[in-house]
Amino acid sequence: MIAVLGTQAVAKERRLWSQIKKWQKRLRLQEWEVAWEAVADGVIGEGLGADLQIRNPEYRRAVIRVSDWRELKGMDFHARHEMLHLALNDLRDRAMELAQRLGTEAAEREMALLAKLEEVAVTRLQRAFDEFEPIKDGEDQFY
Ligand SMILES: [Zn+2]
Repeated sequence: MIAVLGTQAVAKERRLWSQIKKWQKRLRLQEWEVAWEAVADGVIGEGLGADLQIRNPEYRRAVIRVSDWRELKGMDFHARHEMLHLALNDLRDRAMELAQRLGTEAAEREMALLAKLEEVAVTRLQRAFDEFEPIKDGEDQFY
């Protein structure tokens, strides 16, 4: 059983990594150093299977954190989704910078709105990509 889980984990790791590399190339994000890490449940936002952290903006280092690692599914979805967030990162950064120049209350309101708008944009882009290259059931589980 342990050997089987180990094999599945390796397959999942390979799959996630290949998807990150594919989307990095496709979205022309090669100037970024992208890594991933598995995190314990509850480390990232509730209801999220993954998120994106910019660890070192000057050196363009980003980390995709994945929390539902043991479920052995969703790697294609997470890689695609988080890499689209990375594609919008410069726009997001600049907008957040401008929002911070407002008063504290207004800044918080605008930053929350910007985060929602970014999520809407990423979801729309992801759906558009999904139409051209659907993620089939089970496709992202084992390769
Ligand atoms: Zn998102």
